[in-house]
Amino acid sequence: MASPTIKLNSGYDMPQVGFGLWKVDNAVCADTVYNAIKAGYRLFDGACDYGNEKECGEGVARAIKDGLVKREDLFIVSKLWQTFHDEDKVEPITRRQLADWQIDYFDLFLVHFPAALEYVDPSVRYPPGWFYDGKSEVRWSKTTLQQTWGAMERLVDKGLARSIGVSNYQAQSVYDALIYARIKPATLQIEHHPYLQQPDLVSLAQTEGIVVTAYSSFGPTGFMELDMPRAKSVAPLMDSPVIKAVADKHGRTPAQVLLRWATQRGIAVIPKTSRPEVMAQNLDNTSFDLDSEDLAKIADMDLNIRFNKPTNYFSANKLY
Ligand code: NAD
Repeated sequence: MASPTIKLNSGYDMPQVGFGLWKVDNAVCADTVYNAIKAGYRLFDGACDYGNEKECGEGVARAIKDGLVKREDLFIVSKLWQTFHDEDKVEPITRRQLADWQIDYFDLFLVHFPAALEYVDPSVRYPPGWFYDGKSEVRWSKTTLQQTWGAMERLVDKGLARSIGVSNYQAQSVYDALIYARIKPATLQIEHHPYLQQPDLVSLAQTEGIVVTAYSSFGPTGFMELDMPRAKSVAPLMDSPVIKAVADKHGRTPAQVLLRWATQRGIAVIPKTSRPEVMAQNLDNTSFDLDSEDLAKIADMDLNIRFNKPTNYFSANKLY
């Protein structure tokens, strides 16, 4: 099973179904990436902040060495962490991330969050996380998103990234980027599931030719791993009677319905799992269609509840 691709405004084709790498333990990460390649995944969604790019690179290198894929078959995505938003910090950290992945260009490099933090030297702590002191102190940088985007554009000029995009931007930051960008963002990666549908933001991006990638397609499930009370406060989407009924109707699993709900509307997905049989199931979500009745029922499930809020990670109350 191979994923369909979506044409980006940069001219490159991006697999619509990819594999997410957040919270993949370092100890199993290389094997997980290798197994995902074996299962047919070609897009990998990584980030400096996930702390596992070296191991991801080991998995990729092994798959290439074993003849499973060539580099050009893969679509490798990574992200710029907030402490590297200053213009002179973008290229050096991208080069380090590329070295960790053992590759010489990213297919897509994203601004992870529209918020700049003060620089933390990688020799002090890597990945740096949210806190300047590694404990509790949040120090904002005065670098603007426009300045950071200019540095992202220079990554494309230098061949270090083929396409560039943004993540966790809301409408106003997208509009602003469209005004100052020499190279338009190719993708917008956002939290998107039936409990947080953000229809206006999705429509704005798609109207502007920016491909939307949904993260955390299973809603609270990915955040339960963090023991987040907010995630436990709602019913898991895979147990929802609505999603289960739609799944039964089509002879699919609830996970496949949740992914198809996005892919059918032109949105890319990047589910994560460490189990090979589940990898195959998630990849196979584009060979059936939901009908208008299914889509209407799922549209009614919107709670506008967001799990991935930066304040979750640095509020005094920790996760909520
Ligand atoms: P997810 O929505 O992919 O859910 C993962 C959880 O669902 C895991 O507990 C997994 O075991 C379970 N699961 C996966 N497939 C299943 C299936 N078929 N049946 C039953 N359970 C299944 O969670 P996520 O990791 O939050 O999001 C996916 C990816 O999105 C991340 O790995 C990361 O790459 C990306 N992401 C990006 C941002 C960002 O700020 N840009 C934030 C969060 C996630």
